[in-house]
Amino acid sequence: MEIERDESECEVIEFTCEYCKIVYTRCDASERHTDMICLREQFRQHQHQSQAEIKQVKEELEKLRDDHHILTVMLNESREQPCK
Ligand SMILES: [Zn+2]
Repeated sequence: MEIERDESECEVIEFTCEYCKIVYTRCDASERHTDMICLREQFRQHQHQSQAEIKQVKEELEKLRDDHHILTVMLNESREQPCK
């Protein structure tokens, strides 16, 4: 009977952490959502975000390089035209 009463007292409303999106209820927050889990998750997301940003910059650099290459080729071709 003791256990049943404890369960009924336990909050079953679910919370979602705005930082790590872990869904937890108040009664298992201490197990499922500790500061360690949350900070780790934040770090992981930050890392993922950084990697996405790096990828984007690399792609932009790649595009700039291609543009530069095309311009160089065009310039060389125009130089190779016999001057009249
Ligand atoms: Zn969290």
